[in-house]
Amino acid sequence: MKITRRDFIKSSLVLGGSLFLPQKILSAASRQKQGWHPAYAKLESEGRLAPRIEQAYSLLRKCELCPRQCGANRLAGEHGFCRAPGKVVIYIAQPHFGEEISLVGQQGSGTIFFSNCNLRCVFCQNWPIAHEGQGRELEDEDLARMMLYLQKLGCHNINLVTPTHVMPNIISATRIACKKGLHIPLVYNTSGYERVEILKILDGIVDIYLPDLKYMDGEKAAKYSAGTSDYPEVAKEAIIEMNRQVGQHLVDQRGIALRGLMIRHLVMPNRVAGTEKFVKWVAEVLPKSTYVNIMHQYRVEYKAYEHAEICRAITAQEYLEAMDWAVMEGLTNLDPRSVALYKFYARKQNWQSRIP
Ligand code: SF4
Repeated sequence: MKITRRDFIKSSLVLGGSLFLPQKILSAASRQKQGWHPAYAKLESEGRLAPRIEQAYSLLRKCELCPRQCGANRLAGEHGFCRAPGKVVIYIAQPHFGEEISLVGQQGSGTIFFSNCNLRCVFCQNWPIAHEGQGRELEDEDLARMMLYLQKLGCHNINLVTPTHVMPNIISATRIACKKGLHIPLVYNTSGYERVEILKILDGIVDIYLPDLKYMDGEKAAKYSAGTSDYPEVAKEAIIEMNRQVGQHLVDQRGIALRGLMIRHLVMPNRVAGTEKFVKWVAEVLPKSTYVNIMHQYRVEYKAYEHAEICRAITAQEYLEAMDWAVMEGLTNLDPRSVALYKFYARKQNWQSRIP
């Protein structure tokens, strides 16, 4: 089949330039015909959203929201490992243009950065927010107002950054905002350190899961993420559940994400992240068309300089081998910007490129 220049440009725009097999595409017409609505709106229309809020809030009395299961009574003012209070603490809410292309589109991803964190990595890039808890304590109504404001600015989604420890507040705010007209997808942007039982409460509320899979080795996880030797197993189970709930990355005709799983994996120096094992696991356990972003932007931040193994940026070779492993495992839906970067480095390094 002859591909015209016009076809090529059109497909590049829709697929964000990926030469890999695309995510499912839902046209504006079929989106309307199928009556596409965000997951939470459907749940609300069935009267099933309010009980989830009660269920989630009850967990704050003896907090077991994340795998640390501290048992802190956050409603009575106690703090657990994450140091989060019962109310939501927010550092900033703004359109963000540095996320994946299908989240950013023309108008940006409506990011809301929650303060505190249940994982607390030594190389955290957001350490003033995640470790020090900088931000303002707010009511769920304020969070709902922020969601509506980001939608009004034209953002394509509400991108909840580090949401695990404030999940009850998020569901509550989503319902308030939904009743006032919120209609864009909800993105759950998490470290991956999640309990399956808790994710089940989010089933039918979240449209897009955006989890990290940071390590494949428990010792590395324990060393660099505050003792979480169970991280690899916990995060893998969590991602399987996320995939069950939302399935494959689905975009509309403009290439804007509507639903699905998008996995992030940050390549670390000296193969600390276990990238080869990571791509093998995805290929074996999930559909090969799962959206995977092999990220290159590791920086020496916070206390990473105290650890010789992670006290440098990654090399071009480390990134190239990581992408090679992904291609060799047959992953077909790699992030378009990762693919572009791979090609750029491959040319510069005279690397035998595995991507045409
Ligand atoms: S969310 Fe925070 S308080 Fe709750 S179990 Fe996790 S670390 Fe502990």
